[in-house]
Amino acid sequence: MPGLPRIRRLNETSMQTIDKFSFKGQKAFVRVDFNVPLDEKFNITDDTRIRAAIPTLKKILGDGGSVIIGSHLGRPKGVDSKYSLQHILPRVSELLGVKVDFAGDCLGESALRKSAALQPGQALLLENLRFYAAEEGKPRGLSDDASDEAKAVAKKAEKANQKEMAKQLASYATVYVNDAFGTAHRAHASTAIIADNFDAGHKLFGYLMQNEIDAVEKVLKDTARPFTAIMGGSKVSSKIEIIENLLTKVDNLIIAGGMTYTFTKALGGKIGNSIVEDDKLDLALSLLQKAKANGVHLVLAVDAKIADRFSNDANTKFVPVDEIPDGWEGLDIGPQTEKLFAEIIEKSKTVLWNGPTGVFEFENFTDGSRSVGNAIVKATQKGAFSLVGGGDSVACVNKFGIAEQMSYVSTGGGALLEFIEGKELPGIKAIRGY
Ligand code: AMP
Repeated sequence: MPGLPRIRRLNETSMQTIDKFSFKGQKAFVRVDFNVPLDEKFNITDDTRIRAAIPTLKKILGDGGSVIIGSHLGRPKGVDSKYSLQHILPRVSELLGVKVDFAGDCLGESALRKSAALQPGQALLLENLRFYAAEEGKPRGLSDDASDEAKAVAKKAEKANQKEMAKQLASYATVYVNDAFGTAHRAHASTAIIADNFDAGHKLFGYLMQNEIDAVEKVLKDTARPFTAIMGGSKVSSKIEIIENLLTKVDNLIIAGGMTYTFTKALGGKIGNSIVEDDKLDLALSLLQKAKANGVHLVLAVDAKIADRFSNDANTKFVPVDEIPDGWEGLDIGPQTEKLFAEIIEKSKTVLWNGPTGVFEFENFTDGSRSVGNAIVKATQKGAFSLVGGGDSVACVNKFGIAEQMSYVSTGGGALLEFIEGKELPGIKAIRGY
């Protein structure tokens, strides 16, 4: 199981921390992200997300409060037993150390009755919030050929339903706690709208949420320099906004992974059959210019590990990154690039890593990502603050067994990326106002 994010050297930047709040006699509605992967027999295959919310739930119960736990699971289109939170109830009870009760309808009579009857130290898990379209506030089942007017009416109605749903969920509790960073970029009933029903003193971030916010703000606002960001992954197109925002913040921007070849081609290099976005060549050049104008050291690979097909068993060799023969493709960085990147990373005081340097899913193309990971470990040991986040780089640090040696490993995918892009996240704004 991957390690949990830990609290380490984080700032207390916002007002609403649950440490300062006594939950004695309070009923807390806690929005968590228990969207865990299940196998075909509904066994949990990775309980990281449940474990991540346990400190918050235990704090509330330990204070003498009670909790009403709300979450989504998967993407149901309506009520669907496949996505029932009942599947995870035993594990939640086990990790929390109390027998958690269950309400089979998050808006039904049982939720109302059971939440009203909760005693200090007791916990209730509600059925999947996304069984209701109102949670997301988007109409479901509208046919594509519905008129624009019908769509507008349905949309308005669902927004009204969303407000009502938020109001009912809020009515179960005296205080609202959001600990679901993974959905903080969504303005859903339980992640954002609900907060309008509580005064400023009764809406709080849970520990996980607070740690995620503190980690990102430590990197982007309270930055120790030099600040190096390593952006990997497959495509420039999915990282444009982040890269553009980082170009106003970092000292060094390392570009790695599949997007390397769009930059290399834009600069006139030969990239063979490497992954490329031909419609983003101008963009790549403009990012290079922006970096120059902002005084940012934008670092590209100098050599590549190339393969004669997209396979772990392909023939391989190392070549300069701009001399890849036809029929070959770059699937990882080469040793000279590893050294170049490591020297920059090891001198940094703040490091952000998002995305692998190559196709790390193939064992023969993991070396580049591993060497970036090891350089970050060294920087962290020398006092740098390191934040790893966004899907595949988290998978990398877990795979290499170095997650514990990073300052912070984010649990957020899309939410983290939007936060780094500089966007306001509805789940955060609903509580602290920005
Ligand atoms: P992203 O979701 O954009 O962070 O991309 C992660 C994916 O990028 C991983 O599945 C990697 O296998 C893939 N990737 C990284 N480098 C390359 C490359 N050189 N060629 C093709 N795919 C790559």
